[in-house]
Amino acid sequence: MQKLQSIYEGKAKVLYTTEDDGLLIQYFKDDATAFNAQKKGTIHQKGIMNNRIAAKIFEYLSAQGIPTHFVKTLSDREMLVKKVSIVPVEVIVRNRAAGSLCRFLGLAEGTALACPTLEFCYKNDALGDPLINEYHIRALNLATEGEIKEISGMALSINEHLKNFFLKLNIELIDFKLEFGRYNGQIILADEISPDTCRLWEVGTGNKLDKDRFRRDLGNIEQAYQEVLRRVIQ
Ligand code: ADP
Ligand code: UDP
Repeated sequence: MQKLQSIYEGKAKVLYTTEDDGLLIQYFKDDATAFNAQKKGTIHQKGIMNNRIAAKIFEYLSAQGIPTHFVKTLSDREMLVKKVSIVPVEVIVRNRAAGSLCRFLGLAEGTALACPTLEFCYKNDALGDPLINEYHIRALNLATEGEIKEISGMALSINEHLKNFFLKLNIELIDFKLEFGRYNGQIILADEISPDTCRLWEVGTGNKLDKDRFRRDLGNIEQAYQEVLRRVIQ
């Protein structure tokens, strides 16, 4: 499958059309951004590592019955995906407090949450992806009532599967972001799941194996991504 035309270049990936109208190539870049793109940089070989990590995770979730856009890996940095109409809502699932939740609710980093917690953000770079609730989603026609229920159920189910997946690798899943799309009248998981979009802490040491190393200049960024890849493919 060949790349035809670039239809979208985002902060971390580029999407290309293919000879099949229903399929896109998702190309993973090394570019990294944080704090609503105010901080910019590159992480050496991140695109290659995230392409492999995301593929493994999509394969695992598919095997658990979660519908995803992943079709197959094409190369080091490219995967073939089903072309979806993205629901413009980022879904964040949290198991422990970290990042914006600590600032928002005054919680110490790592505070256990009594139940997995869902948040929705309006996918709008100009507004800085603001936190919204289900009423906003319906009021702005971002998704229907049925779609919100479907997406919420899938996000919580993905959380249970991924918590187990990572725990077997001695990694605790702290929080992560998902994007969903509409495909043939169905809601399916799209975009990527990788250390760019998750907080992953090593069990025992609490070592951060994710993009927080870039956000906070903690050093050993590539090594952390490499370590996640090593465990995921073992
Ligand atoms: P951003 O848009 O936030 O800068 P990326 O650089 O990751 O993010 O760009 C990838 C874009 O592709 C995202 O906007 C995402 O919503 C979109 N996308 C992901 N998977 C699909 C898909 N299967 N079909 C269409 N668009 C997709
Ligand atoms: N996240 C993401 N993309 C975003 C916003 C958040 O992948 O545009 C992920 C982030 O990596 C973390 C989780 O979602 O795993 C929760 O992020 P948070 O709201 O704490 O945002 P932050 O403070 O990190 O910007």
